[in-house]
Formats: sequence, structure tokens, C-alpha cells
Amino acid sequence: MFETLSDRLTSVFSSLRSKGRLSEADIDATCREIRIALLEADVALPVVRAFVAQVKERARGAEVSQALNPAQQVVKIVNDELIEVLGGETRRLRFAKNPPTVIMLAGLQGSGKTTLAGKLGRWLREQGHAPLLVAADLQRPNAVQQLSVVAERAQVAVFAPEPGNGVGDPVDVARRSIEYARRQQHDIVVIDTAGRLGIDQEMMKQAADIRDAVSPDEILFVVDAMIGQDAVTTAQAFMEGVGFDGVVLTKLDGDARGGAALSVRHITGRPIMFASTGEKLEDFDAFHPDRMASRILDMGDILTLIEQAQKTFDEEQAAKMAGKLASGDGFTLDDFLEQMMMVRKMGPIKNLLGMMPGMGQMRDQLNQIDDRDLDRVAAIIRSMTPEERADPKIINGSRRARIARGSGVTVTEVNNLVVRFFDAQKMMKRLTGGMGLPGMPGGGG
Ligand code: GDP
Repeated sequence: MFETLSDRLTSVFSSLRSKGRLSEADIDATCREIRIALLEADVALPVVRAFVAQVKERARGAEVSQALNPAQQVVKIVNDELIEVLGGETRRLRFAKNPPTVIMLAGLQGSGKTTLAGKLGRWLREQGHAPLLVAADLQRPNAVQQLSVVAERAQVAVFAPEPGNGVGDPVDVARRSIEYARRQQHDIVVIDTAGRLGIDQEMMKQAADIRDAVSPDEILFVVDAMIGQDAVTTAQAFMEGVGFDGVVLTKLDGDARGGAALSVRHITGRPIMFASTGEKLEDFDAFHPDRMASRILDMGDILTLIEQAQKTFDEEQAAKMAGKLASGDGFTLDDFLEQMMMVRKMGPIKNLLGMMPGMGQMRDQLNQIDDRDLDRVAAIIRSMTPEERADPKIINGSRRARIARGSGVTVTEVNNLVVRFFDAQKMMKRLTGGMGLPGMPGGGG
């Protein structure tokens, strides 16, 4: 995400690092660089102009702060302005006072609406809601079927016209879905509407008709971030044709530049509410302008990392593990495996590390990390007997050969794992002194 912009901006800042104070000429040069960085990122021109003007004005008045050096001051200003252009505060979904809350999705075909319906459904379900996905895209062959598949994967209910009844009326489907939701106690309805490859009057009219029939609480405009500047034109057309309350950016994973993300809010005046970063249902989250700015400036995104950890780790399990770690003894290969699998569940290691500050510089190394390495380690441990896992000291030459055969690796790899495990065990004992960590269950504090 946003690699081009990220690289450009960080190099602008590093050239400022040696400066004691910023002269007028330094500010001008920096602003020129920032301007180029934004233009290269395909940010819309009016946005670039406003952004740079703002940075320049603030940089001129910034010498007062003694706490920050010039480079830090500029980073802070650019960070603040990025947050602003991305929408400032996080905009959360508005729920209707009288359920069901109606959310309508609009956007071009291929923008990722149907996938989004599934993602949103899963996300809402995880927050304790009972969403209903509605197939009001009756234009595209298979759209109804596709939504049903997505809904099943997301484990949420779907409302779709019976197949084989000819092409139904999407407005009627949408209207009936609300009554159905009320009867079946669904508190949220997500309506997937038809899209076309290009903007056309008929599509806009249909979306507007659905809107008038169901009075949505939120209309979300779904747009593929990879189309860059075109996102802005499309957004404007939808703004006039249907109107919308918030934007969902999809395919951010394929968007190295970030132009759409940085332009759409400024141009439409509507906040980005969600972001999609992959084809899988879990590649999705609420959009937080401050965290995104932080990522662009390679300051890391610790908050998202923590949230992911909280979602993945079962508290009871974590407490049990902490107790074991605190006692220093009793940490077995089974625990090692369990811990590794917990980390693995949080997502690709590369993405996790990518959220740490400063990791942007190490992108090449990150890209070489292969999650299959972890799977190999897991396979080795799984090929061991329970006795071997509990007490790896008993693993002699013939056992090693058997384990290697069982997991399809070399004996050296088995050796390396066992040695690494002993090192880890030793380190843990040294860290905790066998006395427990303060504040941890089973510990002394
Ligand atoms: P719709 O026509 O608007 O309903 O779009 P679809 O939901 O059918 O999505 C079109 C294609 O984009 C599908 O192949 C999806 O798997 C893919 N897609 C959707 N969202 C994302 C995303 O965030 N990242 C990536 N890489 N692909 C996505």
C-alpha cells in the first residue's frame, strides 16, 4: 500500500535531518519535493495544491517549537495534513434508532461490491450484529449466486430472489428484504446493487430508485483504489446521480500510489469509512485516517497490530501461556507450536512486521519472508511423539531421522529446530529467573 508515496516522503524528510534550522529556501525546496511526491502518487491537482499550501504556511510559522528539530517539525506537519486530507476523525457507521439499519452499496461493476458485502457482513457479525445481505444486483449473470457464496463464507444470512423466475425487479427485492429483515430479527440490511463497467444513466436511475424505496441510513460508494484519478471522476458521477454518505476503498493492496485515497475525501466531501486490502473476507477494516497517515510516513501502525492481536488471542489461552512462561519450566515444544500458530493466525508475518515503525525501509527483506517456513517448523513438531514434545532432550539420532522422514524435511532442519528451542527455553529462564514476571498470572507480582 502506498509504497511510492511512502518512499518519496521519507526521502524528503531524511534530507532535512542534518539541518539546524529551516530557511525559507529549505521550506520551498521541501514543498516542491512534497508536491512532486503527491503528483507521482496520482493525487488530484486541487488536493495537491491545497495540501502543499497548507504545509508551507505551517512550516513558516513553525520555528517556535524548541522540542522538535526541523525535520521532525516537517514530519509532524505533513502527518497532521495527511490525517486531515484523509478525513480527520474516524467516521463510524450510523445505526438506525429503529432497526433494521439499511446500508446500500453502490459503485461500478468490478469495484468489489459483492466481496465487500461479505466482508461487511462478517465484520458486523463479529461485532454482535445479525446482518442480512440482499442481492439486488439482478443485472449481472451470477451476481445473486456470487452473493450467496460470499454470504455463506461470511456465515451471514442472505435474501435473494428465487433462481429461475426470470429477471426480478431489484427495487422490489430491496423493499421486500426490509420487511423480511424485520420479521427475522436482522438488525442490519446490506444491499448489493448492480454496477456497470462505465457510468450510465440507467444504472444511476436504478440505484436512485432503490434508494428512494428503502431510504438507506448509509449509502456507501465502493471504489477500486487502483483506478487512481478515475476514482475521483467516478465518485463525482455517483455523488450527482445517487449521492452517498461514505466511501469504501477496495484493492488498496494493489495500490502503490495512494492517489484515490488522498483525493476522494477532499473532492467529494465524504469520509472514507472502510478499506479493503485483499480478496479474503478478513482483508477488511474500518478506515482510520490517523493510522493510515502513520503508515504512509512509515511511523508504523501499532494500534491496528494490537487490535489484531486482541481479536486473535483468546485471553484465557494467553493467561495460561503467560503462566508457563513466568515459571520458566514446563515450556514445551507443544507450547512453542501453539504460540507459533497463534501468531500465524494473525495474518501473514510480512503484514504484521510491516506495521512496525521503520519497516518501510526493509520492504525487500519483508517480501522474502515466507510463511511456509513456519508451516515447516509446525510440521516437524507435529511429527514428534507427545513424549518428544514434552521432553525434547530424548530426541536422539534415530528419532531425528524418523521425524525428518515424517515431516518431509532434512535431519539438519530437525536439529536446528531442537537447538533453537533449547536456546529459547534457556533465554526464557534467564529472563524470568524462574521466579515469574511481575503482573503475570502465576508470577510473583
Ligand atoms: P462487484 O462487481 O463490484 O460486485 O465486484 P466483486 O466483488 O465481484 O469483485 C471484483 C473482483 O475484485 C473479484 O475478483 C474480487 O475477488 C476482487 N476484489 C475485491 N476486493 C478486493 C481487494 O480488496 N483486493 C483485491 N486484490 N481484490 C479484490
